[in-house]
Amino acid sequence: MKSADTRQRFLFEGTDIRGEITSLESSFQAMCSRQNYPPAVNAILGEFLAAASLLSATLKFPGIVSIQAIGRGPITAIMAECSRKTQLRGIVRGDFESASKQQSLRSLLGSATLAISIEPEGGERYQGLVPMERDSLSGCLEHYFAQSEQLSTKIKLAANQETAAGVLIQQMPRTGDREKSQADWQHLGALLDSLKPEEQLSLSHEDQLYRLFHEQNLRLLDAEHLQFFCSCSKSRTATTLLSLGFEEVAQICSQQGSVRVTCEFCDQQYVFDESDISGLFEKPNTPLN
Ligand SMILES: [Zn+2]
Repeated sequence: MKSADTRQRFLFEGTDIRGEITSLESSFQAMCSRQNYPPAVNAILGEFLAAASLLSATLKFPGIVSIQAIGRGPITAIMAECSRKTQLRGIVRGDFESASKQQSLRSLLGSATLAISIEPEGGERYQGLVPMERDSLSGCLEHYFAQSEQLSTKIKLAANQETAAGVLIQQMPRTGDREKSQADWQHLGALLDSLKPEEQLSLSHEDQLYRLFHEQNLRLLDAEHLQFFCSCSKSRTATTLLSLGFEEVAQICSQQGSVRVTCEFCDQQYVFDESDISGLFEKPNTPLN
C-alpha cells in the first residue's frame, strides 16, 4: 500500500474542520508476528493501533496516548499506545483459543470499559473512561468524545490481519458563522460515512480523500512516518520487580543466578544480577543467599 505506516493531516479550506488519516502495515505486522493472535483479535488490535495514531496526532504537546479496553470475554485486555506521535506498540491478553471462535468486538470483550489516557511528557496523566456500549471501536470513541464534551469528532477504522487504517475529522472551536459551521460538519460527516473498510485498507490516502471529498477544497499535509517502537527500558522493568518485593526477587535470583524479565510488547530481555537487585531494593549489604 502506498501510504503504509504513515499519518497525514488534512484541512478543509474555508471551514473549521480538519482531519487525520493513517495506514499501518509493517509496524502493525511487526507487533503481531511476536504473538499468536487469532485473525479477529489481530484485526481488533489493528483498529486500536490506528485509533492511537489518530488521537496522538490531535495532541498539542508531546506525550503518550493510550487506548485500553478491559473486558470480561475471551479477551481480558487490549492496549495500543502511541508515543512521541510516531511510535506505536500494542498488546492483547486473554484466552486465544476461546477468542478464535468469536468475531465481533462485543463477543470478544464481553462487557467492557474503554480507557483513553493522555500523558504529556513530564506532565500529569489524564484518563477518561467510557463503557463500551457500541458495536465498533469507532462508535465507542465517538461516544467518548461526545460524553467528555470535547471537540465534535468522527472516526472510521478498519483492519484485517495485515493492514490497519483510520480517518478522523474534527471540528475546531468555532470562529465564524455558527450555521455554516454546523452545515459543513453535517455534510463532511455524511461523506465520511460513505467510506468502506475495503477502501480504507487498499487505497492510498490521496485516493481515499479524493474518493470522499473531491468536491471540497482540501489540503493534504506531509506524511509522518510511523513505526513499531517499544518504550520499555531496564529502569521501567525494575518497577515490576519492586512490586514483587525483595523476598521473592531475591529468592529467584539465588535459585537462577539472575532475574530475567522479558518485555511482553517487544521480547527484549532485561537481566538483573545480584548487585542490580541489591541496589534496586537499596539493600547494599544484604547477601541474597
Ligand atoms: Zn519492550
